[in-house]
Amino acid sequence: MSKPDLILLALEESPILNLMDRALRAINYDTAIARDTKAMARILQASTPALLLIGEKFDGLEGLKIAKELHDRFPTLPFLIYTEKVQPDLIKNILRLGLGNYLTPPLHTDDIIDAVETSLQNARRVGDWLRREVKKTTASLQKRAQISEAERSRLEGVFNSIHDCVMLLDLESKILLINPAMCRTFGLDEGSAIGKPVLDVIIHPDLRALLTRNDNNDLLQYHEVSFADGRVGNAQLTVIHDVGRALTMQDITYLKEMDRVRSEFVHTVSHDLRSPLTSVIGYTELVERAGTLNDLQRDFLHRIQDSVQQITGLINDLLDIGSLEAGLDTRREFIQLDGILRYTIDMLQGQIKSKHLTLKTDIGPSLPALRANPIRLRQVMDNVVGNAIKYSFPGGEINVSIHSEGDQMILSVIDAGPGIPTAEQPRIFDKFYRASNINPDIEGSGLGLAIVKTIVESHQGRIWVESTEGKGSSFFVVLPILSEPAPAGKK
Ligand code: ADP
Repeated sequence: MSKPDLILLALEESPILNLMDRALRAINYDTAIARDTKAMARILQASTPALLLIGEKFDGLEGLKIAKELHDRFPTLPFLIYTEKVQPDLIKNILRLGLGNYLTPPLHTDDIIDAVETSLQNARRVGDWLRREVKKTTASLQKRAQISEAERSRLEGVFNSIHDCVMLLDLESKILLINPAMCRTFGLDEGSAIGKPVLDVIIHPDLRALLTRNDNNDLLQYHEVSFADGRVGNAQLTVIHDVGRALTMQDITYLKEMDRVRSEFVHTVSHDLRSPLTSVIGYTELVERAGTLNDLQRDFLHRIQDSVQQITGLINDLLDIGSLEAGLDTRREFIQLDGILRYTIDMLQGQIKSKHLTLKTDIGPSLPALRANPIRLRQVMDNVVGNAIKYSFPGGEINVSIHSEGDQMILSVIDAGPGIPTAEQPRIFDKFYRASNINPDIEGSGLGLAIVKTIVESHQGRIWVESTEGKGSSFFVVLPILSEPAPAGKK
């Protein structure tokens, strides 16, 4: 048999209290009587009453106020307010606070039992509904937890079988996750690495250089990682908002090898082609001396000479890249970059005039001398300014500026030409790459910017482009004022 419901009677001593007590006990309710708020609190703490019947005035306080406070703590406990006199304001407040019902004299046993049972039934209905809702929510939470668990173990499987090295760092650069490939490559033990500061765990100098590089503006940073056995990795550090950073690394040994074989092939072929081409040029010059030529023959001869010059130029560019990549650019002397710019502009004056271009220069005051290779920097200037002229529409404007900032020199070349499609911008510094939007009649090999980039990097500088297709391009070159020659053999 279940325990009878307990009705808490919080009323001052009166015949009514006795009547209520008797009436409720007669139909098998348990009752508890509290004569002041302290006793009421004690009973509420010690047992779980099914209903609280409280006087409108209780222990010198407003019964309604006490009921309201208790309702906030025990929202499922039903209340009955006993009042000597029906007052519209009191009833309004009882209803407004959702506190259930009230009892008022004349009271018969039936009235008391009726009011108590109706309140209990209502409370049971609310309780049942609440239990159902809680059950439903719990079931749905359990289901979600099961799905998350399945998802988590699937992601863990993927993470562990990734062939590339992956490591996740928190905002304090402590290791959150590390995959088996990373552990194998760097000889780490996952168990002891997790939770440690990454620099306590990683000893490889290239990775440490990437991890400590202070380039907060860049959300993605790259660094090549060389291993003693000849393998090469390409490591990237990506900032993940609110989490920390992800370090990933792919093995690019085969790409490096392919690049080396290709460069070696191009170098050998270029070298072998240069001598026969020199004799072709030599003989074309001799033909004119060997006898008189008619106009058509002379025209053909000049065409041959132009084409051979073009091929020789290309070959020289290729050999140039080869020697730059091999780290043979070791010449360093103090030079004035604005002086080099003036030579370039003088040389390109013919093209500027024939395209009716306006070229404006903005040279910063008292520019410091730059420690660099003057011939190579002339190549940079010729190429970048030359491109702005070559690709500008006739009548356009070009702005070239040179400024120094701290220990750096900044060159910018801005044109209002055809621009470069966004997706192709990173590729224009690759060998032989020409963007898809240029006029195919404009001559070029796609080698100029590759040479420029190699020269800039061999001076520990940076080059980049900002461009909007159809609006123009801005090329920026930043060079350290005191550059050191790149070590031989380092690309
Ligand atoms: P190219 O011999 O083709 O000029 P570069 O290496 O100098 O070779 O440039 C590579 C490509 O970059 C060009 O073919 C062109 O598509 C693009 N490019 C370079 N400079 C500009 C510029 N100022 N405006 C528009 N496109 C440019």
